[in-house]
Amino acid sequence: MRPDILNPLFAEISALKGIGAALARPLERLGLARAVDVAFHLPVAWVDRLIVDELDMSQSGRIVGTVLTPVDYKAGGGMRAPFRVHATDSRGNYVSLIYFGRNSGWPRKMLPLGEPKFVSGRLELYGQELQMVHPDHVLPLEEAGTLPEREPVYRLSEGLSNNRMRDFVGQALDRAPDLSEWIEPSLLAQRAWPGWRVALSDVHRAPDAAKARERLAYDEIFAGQLALMLVRASSRRRRGVPIHGDGHLRDALKLPFAPTGAQRRSIGEIEGDMAQATPMLRLLQGDVGSGKTLVALMALLNAVEAGKQGAMLAPTEILARQHFATLQKMLVGLPVTIAILTGREKGRARESTLMGLADGSIDILVGTHAIFQEAVQYKALALAVIDEQHRFGVAQRMMLAAKAERTPHLLVMTATPIPRTLTLTYYGEMDVSRLDEMPPGRQPIETRVLSAERVDEVIEALGRHIAAGGQAYWVCPLVEESELSDQTAAEVRAETLRMRFGDAVALVHGRMKGPEKDAVMDGFSRNLTKVLVATTVIEVGVDVPNATLMIIEGADRFGLAQLHQLRGRVGRGDKASICLLLRGNALSETSRARLALMRETNDGFRIAEEDLRLRGAGELLGTRQSGEAQLRLATPEHLADLIDSARDDARLLIERDGGLDSARGQAARACLYLFERDAAVGLLRSG
Ligand code: ADP
Ligand code: MG
Repeated sequence: MRPDILNPLFAEISALKGIGAALARPLERLGLARAVDVAFHLPVAWVDRLIVDELDMSQSGRIVGTVLTPVDYKAGGGMRAPFRVHATDSRGNYVSLIYFGRNSGWPRKMLPLGEPKFVSGRLELYGQELQMVHPDHVLPLEEAGTLPEREPVYRLSEGLSNNRMRDFVGQALDRAPDLSEWIEPSLLAQRAWPGWRVALSDVHRAPDAAKARERLAYDEIFAGQLALMLVRASSRRRRGVPIHGDGHLRDALKLPFAPTGAQRRSIGEIEGDMAQATPMLRLLQGDVGSGKTLVALMALLNAVEAGKQGAMLAPTEILARQHFATLQKMLVGLPVTIAILTGREKGRARESTLMGLADGSIDILVGTHAIFQEAVQYKALALAVIDEQHRFGVAQRMMLAAKAERTPHLLVMTATPIPRTLTLTYYGEMDVSRLDEMPPGRQPIETRVLSAERVDEVIEALGRHIAAGGQAYWVCPLVEESELSDQTAAEVRAETLRMRFGDAVALVHGRMKGPEKDAVMDGFSRNLTKVLVATTVIEVGVDVPNATLMIIEGADRFGLAQLHQLRGRVGRGDKASICLLLRGNALSETSRARLALMRETNDGFRIAEEDLRLRGAGELLGTRQSGEAQLRLATPEHLADLIDSARDDARLLIERDGGLDSARGQAARACLYLFERDAAVGLLRSG
């Protein structure tokens, strides 16, 4: 339960004064649902107000505050013409105050003729005339001093003014309680950070409150790290099954290659974990093509050798089938039974798989989410391998734990290269193995960036590529699954290519039914189809070594990590590969830099680090998975600067006070609640 002291801050936003039905929508659009959200809605810019006695043209473009006396009204002619108030400053210079779309009652009331007022707004030059459109403030003279020279500017949505937002922020800050300090005293002193409540109000009051900003970022990062450590501690308290495979299956495996050093090291780390009675919680990071499948297979066989079962979860149907085929091939001649289960296995086939899992005759199961559904019972599940599944969070793990008497060992694999700071932020509860060495003999991929206007040349090149016996991917951007127009773009592209290349062209997209999709993928991997037009459904895993040309349309609309993943579909065989990135014409500086980086390097980890850097200081970090708390206050710079101390601090605190019972522990609990890590508090050992 959240401590009572935080309740005012966590009240619904409607509890703030002045929020009626009309503002509910614009606030919701900004993601502001409770007072705390408003308090954490940090300024994005600051207004410097120029307080002057006399207006002049040189001030045009600035926010200016001065005393004005209304001398005349001019009502608009038509419905849409604005209402104008002519006014003079203290020296008699003229300015027009302009009000659109409002009846004249309000300006007439606020600005009675002949009465001097303090007016502030953006001064503009219109022809030779000075004007202010919708002044920000109109105040009685005696209140002129209340207007700060610097004012925070907030992100707004239609129907919400900055003044209103400022007022709501003020109210939310009034609701912020004094909380006991959770930051380690020496760190606090060394960094010269203010207390939490002061920091929160400082960031809304002063543009140069770097210390306050930093402190809030630290609090958020600390809460995240503490939560992950609690998750880790709680899962380490679970009982798992120590696995000691005798190696008879792994030795019998006939590999056409020798494992890389990185593969051997990772396999060793996994075996070490699996031998323990505490369940493994390990992340295997390895770029596309680094050979994660072999590592997974070794772990699965370790379990099977010990008489247990293993399961491997893939994010999509296509990938599940591909993994199944790959593993089946590698296991030929070995006494290991492997099965597949997805939403598409129905009827008798499904029944028999379920039976085989329950009676233990199936050793390894590959599939999509279906494999951890309730109806699926395992005789002795000892290892779960999760491939490229970002949504596999704490809740999913609980489900998995319920699949066996003892918690299965867990290996999460990702080909999304994540910078170190983000790995700690999102996977900080896990041990990490990195496949940082590519299997030998990889062919280089040459990357070129082209304007989309040159698409005809690209199609010519594609023609030559096919004529020479090659295969190619053509990727069209898909912003959202639901965005029909993108699917249409892929359909249209497929049609234009078909006009030229006929049946050599096939299309695959996310809305296609399973069997249909499989048929297309099968045709491509058997080289019946030469060009696969696709939306990003081919993003992960798909492996067709003969495809050596990758064309990505609208490349500037993809994230760098995604581009890198897509590019990783080629360069898999023994021939050199080419990746063509087609870009739009109105590129931002950052997009330009990002595409240039893609051209320059093929190192996924470097791309990830640079991507994070290119996002720049202002940008906040997204989530690993929707529904899990995201960072709202910390920027990449904060993270780089603070995560190590936050991590050390959290670890120390838990070592000393695992139940968070001490005074500082209690304070830290409040910090967890503040950043909505309630679930982590729930994991605390009671007592
Ligand atoms: P990932 O899943 O990490 O993207 P895969 O496991 O699909 O990579 O491996 C990519 C390709 O490299 C596969 O064709 C695989 O057979 C091959 N491979 C894996 N390990 C090695 C190795 N040590 N030496 C040579 N080829 C390897
Ligand atoms: Mg893979």
